[in-house]
Amino acid sequence: MHYSIGRTLANLIYTGRRGCLFICLLLLMLPAGAFGGPVEYVIHISVDGLRSDAITILGHTRAPSFYRLRAEGSYTDNARTDVHYLGTLPNHTSQLTGRGVKGPTGHNYGDNRFPPLLRTLHSNKGAYVASVFDVVHDHGLSTALYTGKEKFQIFRQSYNSINGAPDQKGVDNGRNKIDHYVYIEDTEKLINNYIAAMHSTPFNYSLLHLRDPDSAGHQDYWDVTPGSSYMNAVARIDKLLGKILDMVATSPRLSGKTVVIVTADHGGTYGSNHTILDSRKNYTIPFYVWGTGVPAGGDLYILNKQTRLDPGNARPPYSDPIQPIREGDAANLALDLLGLEPIPGSTINFSQNLAVTQEHSSKSLVWIVLLAGLVLLL
Ligand SMILES: [Zn+2]
Repeated sequence: MHYSIGRTLANLIYTGRRGCLFICLLLLMLPAGAFGGPVEYVIHISVDGLRSDAITILGHTRAPSFYRLRAEGSYTDNARTDVHYLGTLPNHTSQLTGRGVKGPTGHNYGDNRFPPLLRTLHSNKGAYVASVFDVVHDHGLSTALYTGKEKFQIFRQSYNSINGAPDQKGVDNGRNKIDHYVYIEDTEKLINNYIAAMHSTPFNYSLLHLRDPDSAGHQDYWDVTPGSSYMNAVARIDKLLGKILDMVATSPRLSGKTVVIVTADHGGTYGSNHTILDSRKNYTIPFYVWGTGVPAGGDLYILNKQTRLDPGNARPPYSDPIQPIREGDAANLALDLLGLEPIPGSTINFSQNLAVTQEHSSKSLVWIVLLAGLVLLL
């Protein structure tokens, strides 16, 4: 009798383990959005010349929107730029292509000036440089680039109906990868224009480039004393950022389906500018993620313990086996959130393992349970 009770118990435990494994496998097969709701829209915001400490010095009362992102989303104040370049165009090219600047795998666009009319990222490199716009567009989704600087024209030239790559995925959506390109120098007008467009026909992926802190920094240096022109510019951006967050939170079309990524192309140093490579104030930038499925108050380095390493004060090279979170993570993160594959030829976050949502965390937990189940079975 004891023997038979023992055998029944053993059978139950064994069946339980198999059931657990079966459930785990089923969970792993669920679509990306099953845990946090599908993300249909990614708003990628790059604040030109934004130092992380400008936000923390302003604090909650003077930077309420950035602090809303910190409280309701996940973030780090210690992300990194590209290793070798600290210029607006080279670094935004990294944000859009998921590549560093230099070397055979880099995008190689180091020029920060207004581009000649016939130049593209591809002609400069001597090979096609795909971007986040390519992948989103080729899947039949919509894209936009809103900028405060005319020289972003390089992206329009590179991905227009002549220079964009043929669409070889499913339905042919044409070669023009950026559906809507807007350049307005005045940031408030730029944002109002963007909000109006998002209300009528929201873009699945958009890059919104906000220039003010960089412009103030170049005029009066990156003076982080409250009340300086630089800090006033960051506070002004905070106010405008608030309009975007309110739009997402209150729009029935966007709410619960949108993730906002906020980062910067470089910081800046008081008494200097933003090009000195070994200045911590130049290469330290924020990386904030907010929206559906993103845990509240999460530290991105803690959420990504296995795959990213907080660099402290250092400027780690790309050869380090565990990388810091970089601005260049943004492109493949946006695609991951939209349920799309990484950019062909990209190197930063190519495996799309930067975790920012509950879905990623839940899947990690499922993997742990699955592995534990396997160990028990063996
Ligand atoms: Zn810049």
